[in-house]
Amino acid sequence: MKKIPLHVKIIIAMLLGIIWTFLSENLGILQFNIDWLAPFGDIFMRLLKFIAVPLVLFSIIKGVSGLSNISELGRMGLKTVLLYLSTTCIAVFVGLFLVNQIGPGKNLNIDLKLDQDNIDKISSIQDNYNTKSNESPLQFLVDMVPENIFLSLSDNTSMLQIIFFSLFFAAMLILIPSKKKVHIDNLIDSFYEVFLKMVDVVIRYCPIFIFALLAGTLSKVSKGNEEGILSIVKGLGLYVLVVILGLMIMALVVYPLFLKFFTKNFSYKKFFKAIAPAQILAFSTSSSAATLPVTMDCVRDNLKIPNKISGFVLPIGATVNMDGTSLYQCVAVVFLAQMLGYELSLITQLLIASTAILASIGSAAVPSAGLFMLVVVLGVAGIDPMWIALVLPVDRILDMCRTVVNVTGDATVCSVVNSFSKK
Ligand code: ASP
Repeated sequence: MKKIPLHVKIIIAMLLGIIWTFLSENLGILQFNIDWLAPFGDIFMRLLKFIAVPLVLFSIIKGVSGLSNISELGRMGLKTVLLYLSTTCIAVFVGLFLVNQIGPGKNLNIDLKLDQDNIDKISSIQDNYNTKSNESPLQFLVDMVPENIFLSLSDNTSMLQIIFFSLFFAAMLILIPSKKKVHIDNLIDSFYEVFLKMVDVVIRYCPIFIFALLAGTLSKVSKGNEEGILSIVKGLGLYVLVVILGLMIMALVVYPLFLKFFTKNFSYKKFFKAIAPAQILAFSTSSSAATLPVTMDCVRDNLKIPNKISGFVLPIGATVNMDGTSLYQCVAVVFLAQMLGYELSLITQLLIASTAILASIGSAAVPSAGLFMLVVVLGVAGIDPMWIALVLPVDRILDMCRTVVNVTGDATVCSVVNSFSKK
């Protein structure tokens, strides 16, 4: 068993988790999975989440304070933001192109069956949107600055505030003379090493956890839908297919092309083998934030990208770069418009594209965040948020897939920034 490489063990665990759920569905023992397997998945998610915040804090401070001067930070920041923006623009374009060409929502007749759970979910999405729409357009800038860093550290949704604080703190460290910061440098170094070790230990046992997480999550999804997962997916088949096709184009064509053009000696096999554990974890957890510790580990250990780059590029990416999410939002909105018989002009589609870019930046890196932000994009197309109910049943499955692309995009941009900085 020891000889099997970790990424193969993880893939086997993932497949076993999926197969086991289908078997349990037929045997009628989904409740067993929910009672006895799902808790181990929850423990795993908690472990990953509690490691993520301190890891981001210490890795950014350690990475950025190691830069020689503030202008190096500015240059790296600019490259990172431009690259993230360009991959998201391509994602949005791919999504719009596919959904317009294939037209999954044309000639489709689906009854809108709303159970109480869905009605509650939609009204909470609407409430969230109504509160947000009264805010100033610059509120996102205000929200980035913490009022109290200890509050932000204790709140899993304040990752941007933690990044802001870490960058500010690290930039100030660059400006301080070396002899005045030796102690703090050493302390941060040691804390960073401890959290890295935690990631190593957790990853070693992650195949077992991934099995439990997938079996638990999929059982919950199929239990809530009496017709079973497969039949729901079939009903919305073409829509699901378009989203997955777009995501595959991003992961298998667009990112490899980026890597081929902008990095040296790119090898398909090496890259995907290196980040496979992070991709599978993204699929199992539907959360880029929870996956972040493992993404950092893969990029540093397997792709040999130094911490001063990965420690800066990846936490920002996990929070703001969501190519899979923006692609999915475009497809979902146009799909619903097609189904309702709305004509979307080119201008409206461009507006949808730019809103999806902003909405994906604003989405938190947690399960279903993209679905919540979909309301904003629907608003641009003049579609009632109630219609989200239609895509809701397949959202979890698509969330798992789009999170893989979000994480792959982060690792791609990190490799490109690394190769630019070598030049
Ligand atoms: N779950 C996604 C992520 O964490 C966000 C989303 O699209 O819902 O990257």
